[in-house]
Amino acid sequence: MMKRIHLCMCRMSGAEQKFIDEAFAEEWVVPLGPNVDGFEEDLKKYLTAGDPASEGKEVAALSAGTAAIHLALVLLGVGKDDEVMCQSFTFAASANPVVYQGGRPVFVDSEPGSWNMDPALLDSAIADRVEKTGRKPKAIIAVHLYGMPARIDEICAIGEKWGIPVVEDAAEALGSSYRGRKCGTYGHFGILSFNGNKMITTSGGGALICPDMESKKRAVFFATQAREPFPYYQHEHIGFNYRLSNISAGIGRGQMTVLDEHIDHHRRLAALYQELFAKVDGITYHANPSPESESNYWLSTIEIDPEITGCTPEMVRQHLANLNVETRPLWKPMHLQPVYADTPAYVNGVSEHLFGRGLCLPSGPWVTPEDVKMIVDEITYLISSQSASLT
Ligand SMILES: *Cc1c(COP(=O)(O)O)cnc(C)c1O
Repeated sequence: MMKRIHLCMCRMSGAEQKFIDEAFAEEWVVPLGPNVDGFEEDLKKYLTAGDPASEGKEVAALSAGTAAIHLALVLLGVGKDDEVMCQSFTFAASANPVVYQGGRPVFVDSEPGSWNMDPALLDSAIADRVEKTGRKPKAIIAVHLYGMPARIDEICAIGEKWGIPVVEDAAEALGSSYRGRKCGTYGHFGILSFNGNKMITTSGGGALICPDMESKKRAVFFATQAREPFPYYQHEHIGFNYRLSNISAGIGRGQMTVLDEHIDHHRRLAALYQELFAKVDGITYHANPSPESESNYWLSTIEIDPEITGCTPEMVRQHLANLNVETRPLWKPMHLQPVYADTPAYVNGVSEHLFGRGLCLPSGPWVTPEDVKMIVDEITYLISSQSASLT
Protein backbone atom coordinates (compact mmCIF):
# COMPACT_ATOMS: atom_id res chain seq x y z
CA MET A 1 0.00 0.00 0.00
CA MET A 2 1.18 3.49 -0.82
CA LYS A 3 2.38 5.35 2.28
CA ARG A 4 0.11 8.21 3.29
CA ILE A 5 1.95 11.48 3.92
CA HIS A 6 0.01 13.77 6.27
CA LEU A 7 0.34 17.54 6.76
CA CYS A 8 1.15 17.15 10.46
CA MET A 9 0.40 13.96 12.34
CA CYS A 10 1.24 13.70 16.02
CA ARG A 11 4.06 11.49 17.24
CA MET A 12 4.50 10.16 20.78
CA SER A 13 7.90 10.17 22.45
CA GLY A 14 7.28 7.14 24.66
CA ALA A 15 7.59 9.22 27.82
CA GLU A 16 3.85 10.02 27.81
CA GLN A 17 2.91 6.54 29.06
CA LYS A 18 5.01 6.92 32.20
CA PHE A 19 3.15 10.08 33.24
CA ILE A 20 -0.22 8.48 32.49
CA ASP A 21 0.70 5.32 34.44
CA GLU A 22 1.69 7.47 37.42
CA ALA A 23 -1.65 9.27 37.24
CA PHE A 24 -3.49 5.93 37.31
CA ALA A 25 -1.30 4.55 40.09
CA GLU A 26 -2.04 7.58 42.24
CA GLU A 27 -5.69 7.75 41.11
CA TRP A 28 -5.27 11.28 39.77
CA VAL A 29 -7.74 10.65 36.93
CA VAL A 30 -9.32 14.08 37.34
CA PRO A 31 -8.88 17.61 35.99
CA LEU A 32 -6.26 18.54 38.54
CA GLY A 33 -3.17 16.82 39.86
CA PRO A 34 0.59 16.60 39.50
CA ASN A 35 0.61 16.30 35.71
CA VAL A 36 -1.42 19.51 35.29
CA ASP A 37 0.97 21.36 37.62
CA GLY A 38 4.02 19.75 35.98
CA PHE A 39 2.87 20.53 32.44
CA GLU A 40 2.15 24.16 33.34
CA GLU A 41 5.59 24.44 34.92
CA ASP A 42 7.27 22.90 31.84
CA LEU A 43 5.47 25.33 29.53
CA LYS A 44 6.26 28.33 31.69
CA LYS A 45 9.96 27.45 31.78
CA TYR A 46 10.04 26.83 28.06
CA LEU A 47 8.36 30.15 27.22
CA THR A 48 10.06 32.46 29.69
CA ALA A 49 13.54 31.04 30.42
CA GLY A 50 16.23 33.67 29.92
CA ASP A 51 13.72 36.38 29.03
CA PRO A 52 13.45 39.11 31.68
CA ALA A 53 10.58 40.71 29.72
CA SER A 54 8.31 37.72 30.38
CA GLU A 55 9.18 37.31 34.05
CA GLY A 56 6.14 36.65 36.21
CA LYS A 57 4.08 35.12 33.40
CA GLU A 58 2.04 32.06 34.39
CA VAL A 59 0.46 29.31 32.30
CA ALA A 60 -2.97 27.70 32.80
CA ALA A 61 -3.53 24.33 31.08
CA LEU A 62 -6.97 24.14 29.46
CA SER A 63 -9.14 21.78 27.44
CA ALA A 64 -8.53 23.58 24.11
CA GLY A 65 -6.91 26.56 22.46
CA THR A 66 -10.39 27.84 21.67
CA ALA A 67 -11.25 27.70 25.38
CA ALA A 68 -8.09 29.71 26.10
CA ILE A 69 -9.14 32.48 23.69
CA HIS A 70 -12.62 32.47 25.19
CA LEU A 71 -11.27 32.80 28.75
CA ALA A 72 -8.92 35.60 27.70
CA LEU A 73 -11.92 37.54 26.39
CA VAL A 74 -13.91 36.80 29.56
CA LEU A 75 -11.04 38.09 31.70
CA LEU A 76 -10.72 41.20 29.52
CA GLY A 77 -14.41 41.90 30.07
CA VAL A 78 -15.54 41.45 26.46
CA GLY A 79 -19.32 41.32 26.54
CA LYS A 80 -22.47 41.97 24.58
CA ASP A 81 -22.04 44.27 21.56
CA ASP A 82 -18.34 44.85 22.26
CA GLU A 83 -16.07 44.92 19.23
CA VAL A 84 -12.80 42.97 19.03
CA MET A 85 -10.24 43.55 16.30
CA CYS A 86 -9.27 40.15 14.87
CA GLN A 87 -6.90 38.96 12.16
CA SER A 88 -9.00 37.90 9.16
CA PHE A 89 -6.46 35.43 7.75
CA THR A 90 -6.82 32.66 10.34
CA PHE A 91 -8.73 29.63 11.53
CA ALA A 92 -12.30 30.31 12.70
CA ALA A 93 -11.36 29.42 16.29
CA SER A 94 -9.49 32.73 16.59
CA ALA A 95 -12.67 34.73 16.05
CA ASN A 96 -15.57 32.56 17.23
CA PRO A 97 -15.06 33.15 20.99
CA VAL A 98 -15.84 36.85 20.40
CA VAL A 99 -19.30 35.74 19.29
CA TYR A 100 -19.62 33.34 22.27
CA GLN A 101 -19.43 36.49 24.42
CA GLY A 102 -22.10 38.27 22.39
CA GLY A 103 -19.47 40.56 20.91
CA ARG A 104 -18.59 41.29 17.31
CA PRO A 105 -15.26 40.65 15.59
CA VAL A 106 -13.92 43.33 13.27
CA PHE A 107 -11.57 41.77 10.76
CA VAL A 108 -8.19 43.19 9.79
CA ASP A 109 -6.21 42.00 6.78
CA SER A 110 -2.58 40.85 6.62
CA GLU A 111 0.72 42.31 5.48
CA PRO A 112 2.64 40.46 2.78
CA GLY A 113 5.83 39.74 4.75
CA SER A 114 4.52 37.62 7.60
CA TRP A 115 1.00 37.00 6.21
CA ASN A 116 -0.26 38.18 9.61
CA MET A 117 -2.12 41.26 10.86
CA ASP A 118 -1.00 44.47 9.13
CA PRO A 119 -0.09 46.87 11.98
CA ALA A 120 -0.75 50.05 9.96
CA LEU A 121 -4.13 48.76 8.83
CA LEU A 122 -4.97 47.79 12.42
CA ASP A 123 -4.20 51.32 13.57
CA SER A 124 -6.37 53.01 10.95
CA ALA A 125 -9.15 50.43 11.45
CA ILE A 126 -9.27 51.19 15.20
CA ALA A 127 -9.44 54.91 14.44
CA ASP A 128 -12.34 54.24 12.08
CA ARG A 129 -14.21 52.07 14.63
CA VAL A 130 -13.85 54.76 17.26
CA GLU A 131 -15.17 57.34 14.82
CA LYS A 132 -18.07 55.15 13.62
CA THR A 133 -19.22 53.67 16.93
CA GLY A 134 -17.98 56.19 19.45
CA ARG A 135 -16.41 53.33 21.42
CA LYS A 136 -13.02 51.68 21.54
CA PRO A 137 -12.73 47.99 20.59
CA LYS A 138 -12.22 45.86 23.71
CA ALA A 139 -9.34 43.69 22.52
CA ILE A 140 -7.06 42.82 19.59
CA ILE A 141 -6.58 39.18 18.52
CA ALA A 142 -3.37 38.75 16.52
CA VAL A 143 -2.28 35.38 15.12
CA HIS A 144 1.09 33.80 14.28
CA LEU A 145 -0.24 31.81 11.36
CA TYR A 146 1.55 28.58 10.36
CA GLY A 147 4.04 29.41 13.12
CA MET A 148 5.27 32.54 11.33
CA PRO A 149 5.59 35.39 13.84
CA ALA A 150 3.38 38.43 13.32
CA ARG A 151 4.93 41.88 13.78
CA ILE A 152 3.76 41.51 17.33
CA ASP A 153 5.80 44.28 18.95
CA GLU A 154 4.26 46.84 16.58
CA ILE A 155 0.81 45.39 17.18
CA CYS A 156 1.32 45.58 20.96
CA ALA A 157 2.58 49.17 20.63
CA ILE A 158 -0.61 50.11 18.76
CA GLY A 159 -2.65 48.34 21.45
CA GLU A 160 -0.81 50.33 24.08
CA LYS A 161 -1.32 53.58 22.23
CA TRP A 162 -5.09 53.03 22.14
CA GLY A 163 -5.27 51.35 25.54
CA ILE A 164 -6.52 48.07 24.04
CA PRO A 165 -5.09 44.74 25.30
CA VAL A 166 -3.69 42.20 22.82
CA VAL A 167 -4.54 38.48 22.82
CA GLU A 168 -1.81 36.61 21.00
CA ASP A 169 -3.06 33.48 19.23
CA ALA A 170 0.08 31.31 19.20
CA ALA A 171 -1.90 28.08 18.66
CA GLU A 172 0.34 27.21 15.71
CA ALA A 173 3.47 28.93 16.98
CA LEU A 174 4.77 27.06 20.01
CA GLY A 175 8.55 27.56 19.83
CA SER A 176 8.49 30.41 17.31
CA SER A 177 10.13 33.62 18.39
CA TYR A 178 10.24 37.25 17.33
CA ARG A 179 13.18 39.47 18.22
CA GLY A 180 14.45 36.74 20.50
CA ARG A 181 11.25 36.44 22.53
CA LYS A 182 8.88 33.48 22.37
CA CYS A 183 5.58 34.00 20.58
CA GLY A 184 2.72 33.95 23.07
CA THR A 185 4.58 36.06 25.66
CA TYR A 186 4.16 39.47 23.99
CA GLY A 187 0.42 39.99 24.41
CA HIS A 188 -1.54 40.69 27.58
CA PHE A 189 -2.68 37.08 27.13
CA GLY A 190 -1.24 34.41 24.84
CA ILE A 191 -2.83 31.14 23.85
CA LEU A 192 -1.49 27.76 22.73
CA SER A 193 -3.17 24.68 21.24
CA PHE A 194 -2.26 21.03 21.76
CA ASN A 195 -4.72 19.61 19.28
CA GLY A 196 -3.66 16.43 17.46
CA ASN A 197 -2.19 18.28 14.48
CA LYS A 198 -0.26 21.02 16.27
CA MET A 199 3.44 21.16 17.21
CA ILE A 200 2.79 18.95 20.26
CA THR A 201 -0.44 17.31 21.37
CA THR A 202 -2.27 16.34 24.53
CA SER A 203 -4.84 14.56 22.30
CA GLY A 204 -6.77 17.83 22.62
CA GLY A 205 -5.91 20.74 24.87
CA GLY A 206 -4.66 24.29 25.10
CA ALA A 207 -3.10 26.82 27.41
CA LEU A 208 -3.56 30.41 28.45
CA ILE A 209 -0.38 32.41 29.03
CA CYS A 210 -1.25 34.95 31.74
CA PRO A 211 0.57 38.13 32.78
CA ASP A 212 0.75 37.10 36.49
CA MET A 213 -0.40 34.62 39.14
CA GLU A 214 -3.43 36.74 39.97
CA SER A 215 -4.85 36.49 36.44
CA LYS A 216 -3.95 32.79 36.22
CA LYS A 217 -5.99 32.16 39.38
CA ARG A 218 -8.85 34.10 37.83
CA ALA A 219 -8.57 32.03 34.62
CA VAL A 220 -8.60 28.75 36.57
CA PHE A 221 -11.60 29.99 38.59
CA PHE A 222 -13.61 30.59 35.41
CA ALA A 223 -12.29 27.33 33.88
CA THR A 224 -13.68 25.32 36.84
CA GLN A 225 -17.30 26.55 36.89
CA ALA A 226 -16.61 29.76 38.87
CA ARG A 227 -17.15 28.12 42.24
CA GLU A 228 -16.84 30.60 45.08
CA PRO A 229 -14.95 29.54 48.21
CA PHE A 230 -17.88 28.27 50.29
CA PRO A 231 -18.46 24.79 51.75
CA TYR A 232 -21.54 24.53 49.49
CA TYR A 233 -21.57 25.46 45.79
CA GLN A 234 -22.03 29.20 45.52
CA HIS A 235 -21.91 30.96 42.12
CA GLU A 236 -21.63 34.67 41.48
CA HIS A 237 -20.38 34.41 37.88
CA ILE A 238 -21.06 32.18 34.88
CA GLY A 239 -18.18 29.70 34.66
CA PHE A 240 -16.97 27.09 32.21
CA ASN A 241 -15.63 23.54 32.29
CA TYR A 242 -12.35 24.30 30.51
CA ARG A 243 -9.58 22.71 32.62
CA LEU A 244 -7.20 20.11 31.14
CA SER A 245 -7.41 16.62 32.68
CA ASN A 246 -4.47 15.15 34.58
CA ILE A 247 -4.30 12.34 31.99
CA SER A 248 -4.09 14.72 29.01
CA ALA A 249 -1.52 16.80 30.89
CA GLY A 250 0.53 13.60 31.30
CA ILE A 251 0.64 13.30 27.51
CA GLY A 252 1.69 16.95 27.42
CA ARG A 253 4.58 16.38 29.82
CA GLY A 254 5.80 13.52 27.66
CA GLN A 255 5.50 15.67 24.55
CA MET A 256 7.55 18.44 26.16
CA THR A 257 10.52 16.05 26.21
CA VAL A 258 10.51 16.03 22.38
CA LEU A 259 9.33 19.58 21.65
CA ASP A 260 12.77 20.84 20.63
CA GLU A 261 13.32 17.77 18.51
CA HIS A 262 9.97 18.29 16.75
CA ILE A 263 10.73 21.96 16.05
CA ASP A 264 14.20 21.09 14.69
CA HIS A 265 12.57 18.56 12.40
CA HIS A 266 9.98 21.05 11.09
CA ARG A 267 12.76 23.59 10.51
CA ARG A 268 15.00 21.10 8.70
CA LEU A 269 12.15 20.15 6.35
CA ALA A 270 11.42 23.86 5.81
CA ALA A 271 15.05 24.54 4.86
CA LEU A 272 14.96 21.65 2.41
CA TYR A 273 11.68 22.78 0.79
CA GLN A 274 13.10 26.29 0.53
CA GLU A 275 16.32 25.08 -1.09
CA LEU A 276 14.53 22.84 -3.60
CA PHE A 277 11.80 25.36 -4.51
CA ALA A 278 14.44 28.05 -5.13
CA LYS A 279 15.04 26.23 -8.44
CA VAL A 280 11.35 26.16 -9.42
CA ASP A 281 10.04 29.20 -11.31
CA GLY A 282 6.66 30.46 -10.15
CA ILE A 283 6.78 28.88 -6.67
CA THR A 284 7.57 31.07 -3.68
CA TYR A 285 8.35 29.40 -0.39
CA HIS A 286 7.02 31.36 2.62
CA ALA A 287 10.21 31.84 4.63
CA ASN A 288 11.05 34.11 7.58
CA PRO A 289 10.70 37.62 6.09
CA SER A 290 13.49 39.02 8.28
CA PRO A 291 16.16 37.83 10.72
CA GLU A 292 13.86 39.01 13.54
CA SER A 293 11.38 36.24 12.79
CA GLU A 294 12.11 32.65 13.73
CA SER A 295 9.20 30.51 12.63
CA ASN A 296 8.76 27.03 14.02
CA TYR A 297 7.57 26.17 10.48
CA TRP A 298 4.61 24.25 11.87
CA LEU A 299 3.45 23.91 8.26
CA SER A 300 5.52 24.68 5.20
CA THR A 301 3.56 26.91 2.85
CA ILE A 302 4.04 28.05 -0.74
CA GLU A 303 2.54 30.49 -3.22
CA ILE A 304 1.97 29.19 -6.72
CA ASP A 305 1.89 31.69 -9.60
CA PRO A 306 -0.56 30.18 -12.12
CA GLU A 307 0.73 32.34 -14.99
CA ILE A 308 4.29 31.11 -14.66
CA THR A 309 3.57 27.50 -13.66
CA GLY A 310 0.39 26.87 -15.64
CA CYS A 311 -0.92 25.27 -12.41
CA THR A 312 -3.49 26.31 -9.86
CA PRO A 313 -3.08 25.28 -6.22
CA GLU A 314 -6.07 22.96 -6.73
CA MET A 315 -4.29 21.14 -9.58
CA VAL A 316 -1.26 20.63 -7.35
CA ARG A 317 -3.45 19.49 -4.48
CA GLN A 318 -5.22 16.91 -6.63
CA HIS A 319 -2.02 15.65 -8.22
CA LEU A 320 -0.49 15.05 -4.79
CA ALA A 321 -3.73 13.61 -3.37
CA ASN A 322 -3.54 10.92 -6.07
CA LEU A 323 -0.12 10.05 -4.64
CA ASN A 324 -1.59 9.86 -1.14
CA VAL A 325 0.03 13.13 -0.10
CA GLU A 326 -2.12 15.47 1.98
CA THR A 327 -1.95 19.20 1.16
CA ARG A 328 -4.43 21.96 1.94
CA PRO A 329 -5.29 25.43 0.63
CA LEU A 330 -4.32 28.29 2.94
CA TRP A 331 -6.93 29.45 5.47
CA LYS A 332 -9.95 31.05 3.87
CA PRO A 333 -10.06 34.59 5.32
CA MET A 334 -12.79 35.17 7.91
CA HIS A 335 -14.17 38.16 6.00
CA LEU A 336 -15.02 35.77 3.13
CA GLN A 337 -16.78 33.22 5.38
CA PRO A 338 -20.57 33.06 4.96
CA VAL A 339 -21.02 32.98 8.74
CA TYR A 340 -19.24 36.35 9.00
CA ALA A 341 -20.86 37.95 5.94
CA ASP A 342 -22.24 40.90 7.94
CA THR A 343 -19.08 41.55 9.96
CA PRO A 344 -17.05 44.73 9.46
CA ALA A 345 -13.71 44.10 7.74
CA TYR A 346 -10.71 46.24 6.78
CA VAL A 347 -9.14 44.53 3.80
CA ASN A 348 -6.19 45.24 1.52
CA GLY A 349 -6.27 42.23 -0.83
CA VAL A 350 -3.38 40.35 0.79
CA SER A 351 -5.28 37.47 2.41
CA GLU A 352 -7.56 37.04 -0.63
CA HIS A 353 -4.50 36.88 -2.87
CA LEU A 354 -2.90 34.27 -0.60
CA PHE A 355 -6.08 32.22 -0.37
CA GLY A 356 -6.19 32.06 -4.17
CA ARG A 357 -2.58 30.98 -4.61
CA GLY A 358 -1.32 29.23 -1.54
CA LEU A 359 -0.89 25.65 -0.42
CA CYS A 360 0.22 23.96 2.84
CA LEU A 361 2.65 21.10 2.45
CA PRO A 362 3.40 18.10 4.73
CA SER A 363 5.69 19.14 7.57
CA GLY A 364 5.06 16.91 10.58
CA PRO A 365 7.31 14.54 12.54
CA TRP A 366 6.59 11.58 10.24
CA VAL A 367 7.58 13.41 7.04
CA THR A 368 11.11 12.54 5.87
CA PRO A 369 13.57 14.51 3.71
CA GLU A 370 12.94 11.87 1.01
CA ASP A 371 9.21 12.69 1.17
CA VAL A 372 10.02 16.38 0.72
CA LYS A 373 12.20 15.62 -2.32
CA MET A 374 9.45 13.45 -3.80
CA ILE A 375 6.82 16.19 -3.22
CA VAL A 376 8.97 18.90 -4.84
CA ASP A 377 9.83 16.53 -7.74
CA GLU A 378 6.15 15.80 -8.30
CA ILE A 379 5.22 19.50 -8.29
CA THR A 380 8.11 20.21 -10.70
CA TYR A 381 6.93 17.37 -12.94
CA LEU A 382 3.35 18.67 -12.92
CA ILE A 383 4.54 22.16 -13.88
CA SER A 384 6.73 20.87 -16.71
CA SER A 385 3.90 18.71 -18.06
CA GLN A 386 1.65 21.80 -18.10
CA SER A 387 4.17 23.92 -20.00
CA ALA A 388 4.82 20.98 -22.37
CA SER A 389 1.10 20.79 -23.15
CA LEU A 390 1.04 24.53 -23.82
CA THR A 391 3.71 24.38 -26.54
C1 LIG B 1 -5.88 25.21 16.30
C2 LIG B 1 -6.09 26.66 16.38
C3 LIG B 1 -6.90 27.24 17.35
C4 LIG B 1 -7.76 26.46 18.30
O1 LIG B 1 -7.13 25.51 19.06
P1 LIG B 1 -7.93 24.21 19.54
O2 LIG B 1 -7.02 23.60 20.54
O3 LIG B 1 -8.15 23.35 18.34
O4 LIG B 1 -9.22 24.67 20.15
C5 LIG B 1 -6.97 28.63 17.41
N1 LIG B 1 -6.32 29.39 16.54
C6 LIG B 1 -5.55 28.87 15.57
C7 LIG B 1 -4.83 29.79 14.65
C8 LIG B 1 -5.43 27.49 15.44
O5 LIG B 1 -4.70 26.98 14.45
